[in-house]
Amino acid sequence: MDEHTKLNSIRFVSLGPGDPELITVKGLKALQEADCIFCPETVTRQGEGLSRAADIMLELGIDSRHFYRFSLPMDKRREKALEAYDKVCVEAANLWKKGLKVCLVAEGDAGLYSSVHYVYEKLDSEGIPVEHIAGIPAFIAAGACGGLHIVSQEERLMVVPGVVTADEIGNFVGNGHAVVIMKLSRCKEEIKRCLQLHPEYDYHYFENVGLPNEVCLQETEQIETAAFPYFSLLIVRPKAS
Ligand code: SAH
Repeated sequence: MDEHTKLNSIRFVSLGPGDPELITVKGLKALQEADCIFCPETVTRQGEGLSRAADIMLELGIDSRHFYRFSLPMDKRREKALEAYDKVCVEAANLWKKGLKVCLVAEGDAGLYSSVHYVYEKLDSEGIPVEHIAGIPAFIAAGACGGLHIVSQEERLMVVPGVVTADEIGNFVGNGHAVVIMKLSRCKEEIKRCLQLHPEYDYHYFENVGLPNEVCLQETEQIETAAFPYFSLLIVRPKAS
């Protein structure tokens, strides 16, 4: 890749978990230099467009006139989201071909359970230069928020996307893993079962890490009655000896 092409890559900027200060210097510079920033939002039943990514960028002082907000359907079917992303691919490629500096943003790191990576792969396969700017994933920020040594010594780390059973969690932890469970809203009942089955583990529950409404719980009784919203995750560890 020559230097000119490299400068003009379409950049996938990782925004970090929500605290605007947890973006990297490199990510911030890319946003400040951008002409167009594609930013996902979800539209509520009342027709209001919500975008945590846009909120982070506004707090960073990024000019909202550069935002290209696109809506991601709340529909669970992946095809619907891919249709929206296909349109983003075409529009982003057209702007890039005009010589504009184009960014796409993602919360946390853009390469960790991040559906926007589909756009990265598609543009790449079309020969358009793409660049992924790394960011802090929510579970790393959660560990910091809880003062945790997420994995220590010989332990292994298992990250699962919410499709998990209490028995599987038991097997992982029993075999020396610390377990991070993302997309917690999908497995509320199994988590409650795990809390009952394995009181001998350490549980760390997090909601909205890095935001003013951040929640960080360690008491089983409190976790049992927690809300388990979309932006929540759990870290399960063998009990500290
Ligand atoms: N790319 C993101 C993960 C996206 S998947 C990253 O690197 O962290 C979405 C899941 O991430 C959510 O269901 C939730 O489990 C977790 N998540 C993202 N942001 C979060 C936050 N601020 N607080 C708690 N969990 C969060």
